[in-house]
Amino acid sequence: MNLKDLAQWLVEYVANYPEKHNQIAIWREPIVSCAPADGRFQRLKEITVPDHALPQDLLPDAKTVVVWFIPFKFHIQMDNTGGERPALSWGRAYLSTNDMITRIGDALKEMIEDAGGKVALTPATHNFDKQRLVSRWSHKHLGHLIGLGRYGTNCQFITPDGCSGRMGSLVTDMDLGDHPLVTVDELCLIKSGKKCGKCIKACPVEALSENGLDRSVCYARLRENYHLFMEPDGLPDTTNVCAKCQVGMPCSKKSPLPVNQQVPHV
Ligand code: SF4
Ligand code: SF4
Repeated sequence: MNLKDLAQWLVEYVANYPEKHNQIAIWREPIVSCAPADGRFQRLKEITVPDHALPQDLLPDAKTVVVWFIPFKFHIQMDNTGGERPALSWGRAYLSTNDMITRIGDALKEMIEDAGGKVALTPATHNFDKQRLVSRWSHKHLGHLIGLGRYGTNCQFITPDGCSGRMGSLVTDMDLGDHPLVTVDELCLIKSGKKCGKCIKACPVEALSENGLDRSVCYARLRENYHLFMEPDGLPDTTNVCAKCQVGMPCSKKSPLPVNQQVPHV
């Protein structure tokens, strides 16, 4: 088992998923990175919350952290672009992608265990903390530390294939090496000193600024969207959606900046 095999398996799983589960195709090809479960993850406690879990909290002999990103197809991004409220199709895409990510985690666990390894998936207790509005197992921060992408001003995760998609992760005791996809410091235009700020303007409740995200304002909007637009159609209470800052942006479909250092011509 190596990362190339795992990445290929993931691409095929996502490609075959709509037919197998009788769903419309809303996903592009997934991407994946991994890194040794080394000292770099100590930074999680500084850059997130002091009680953020470490890989070894999930699996005592953890050797590798794997994070994947599944980008949405453009038509589903377009459905949610413009206006101030989320499209119902976006709410459904959010739910079906979360379901698929759970199935991917379970299938990967089985596959790695069949190959003789151990796997830990994110336990429920490390998920979103509704009081502090933070996660104790943040896929985005893990993705940053292993070089799958970088944080944008929109507080979304910008990867080589944009920021419109969803993420999953696992920890294993198998040694899969260090395979970053992104080696530059920033992929967000503002954060790299260029002009943009489109996401700040797109936020209907002014939760975003160049200094970051007001989590409580954003979360209140997600809950309001749920009660007004998702709950009446029977979608479950977990359908916290908006993402106006994630679609129709220069960073939505692909990174607006090179993901690796440009090698100067000599
Ligand atoms: S819209 Fe512009 S400023 Fe906002 S995250 Fe994307 S690149 Fe950065
Ligand atoms: S998800 Fe919506 S409310 Fe939250 S920051 Fe983005 S645009 Fe604003």
